[in-house]
Amino acid sequence: MDWVWEEKDGCRFLTIPRWWTQGARVFFSSRAGGASTGPWAELNLGLHVGDEPGQVAQNRDKLARAVGLADYAWYAARQVHGNDVVVVDAQAAGTPSQPGALGDADGIATRRRGAVLMGFFADCAPLFFFAPRRQVVALAHAGWRGTVGKVAQEAVYRLEQEFDCRRGDLQVAIGPCIGVCCYQVGAEVIELVRERFGSAGEAFLGHRNNALYLDLAGLNRFILVAAGVPAQSIITSRYCTSCHPELFFSHRREAGKTGRMAGGIALR
Ligand SMILES: [Zn+2]
Repeated sequence: MDWVWEEKDGCRFLTIPRWWTQGARVFFSSRAGGASTGPWAELNLGLHVGDEPGQVAQNRDKLARAVGLADYAWYAARQVHGNDVVVVDAQAAGTPSQPGALGDADGIATRRRGAVLMGFFADCAPLFFFAPRRQVVALAHAGWRGTVGKVAQEAVYRLEQEFDCRRGDLQVAIGPCIGVCCYQVGAEVIELVRERFGSAGEAFLGHRNNALYLDLAGLNRFILVAAGVPAQSIITSRYCTSCHPELFFSHRREAGKTGRMAGGIALR
């Protein structure tokens, strides 16, 4: 019922076997198994983070083979920390190294078989959605802005409007993100959490040594349940990206100079 590790050709990634048996392949990469060096070692999947683009392309191809989706059509949106959710329909298909462009959005949904929805992460919360009855999948990217902007709720609503997915039938997996152990946030974030969630928001703020910390995964889980997803249908990863330098890149831990993991989901 949880995320489990899988490995192929040195490429380690998390997946959910139960979703596979129900029709969806989901993955979240680790930093193990790629060709990048320095702050991007080893499996950096993000362009525009200072790494060599040719290396990133190789890493993406390697991950695609490892997760068994190399022959699929790959798509990615330009993540802007908003709450828009786009649907993949007629956009031009891409490859793992050059995914089909979907414009600016932090959520992507599709019912198309053979389409992989991909996002890039290094602390922000990856949210994966699967509606087994309707055979629809979605992916969202939620840092503090996207979380407070309720991209998780927008994804649930979009799946309902666009594909007639019942909220009670949805399964959601939250992947590794920065934990309340490490995610210190400033006054503007705290103010927005209090404004948007009232006293319920307090449960997702940690107080230590006169500093405040945000529980991204917990707050997204709360938003999903409030939006109608059954609590027992939400899987949360136990990993904090900042606490595990051997496994994950962390934007906060490395003060911005680091690589990106990739998360993806596809109907098989
Ligand atoms: Zn931590």
